[in-house]
Amino acid sequence: MADRSLRGMRLGAQSLQSEEGVVFSPRTTYTYRCATCGRDTEMVFSAEAEAPEIWECKFCSREATLMVGSEPMTVDRADAKTPRSHWDMLLERRTRAELEELLEERLTYLRARRGTQKIGA
Ligand SMILES: [Zn+2]
Repeated sequence: MADRSLRGMRLGAQSLQSEEGVVFSPRTTYTYRCATCGRDTEMVFSAEAEAPEIWECKFCSREATLMVGSEPMTVDRADAKTPRSHWDMLLERRTRAELEELLEERLTYLRARRGTQKIGA
């Protein structure tokens, strides 16, 4: 009798865990194959996140490509990857330079104003 109720509790606890889905957050293991050394780097990402196409090889630090099934993913650098990242970098750099320039202008202006105010007062 005691044995039976214990078993029931164990089963109940197990089904609760899987139903909640909070204890185990969904994760997916992705494999990246290095083109340089040919070894696989396994990465675990949240199942909700989109896995990057390229990851750093943990053996030689070169680029490893995401495996889809048994084949490495085809990364179209010419059409998608390079121009977009280049553009992003360019945009980022230009915006930052502009911001820095504006900030410098502003600081110079404020320092000058503060300076004249101090001199005036
Ligand atoms: Zn490698």
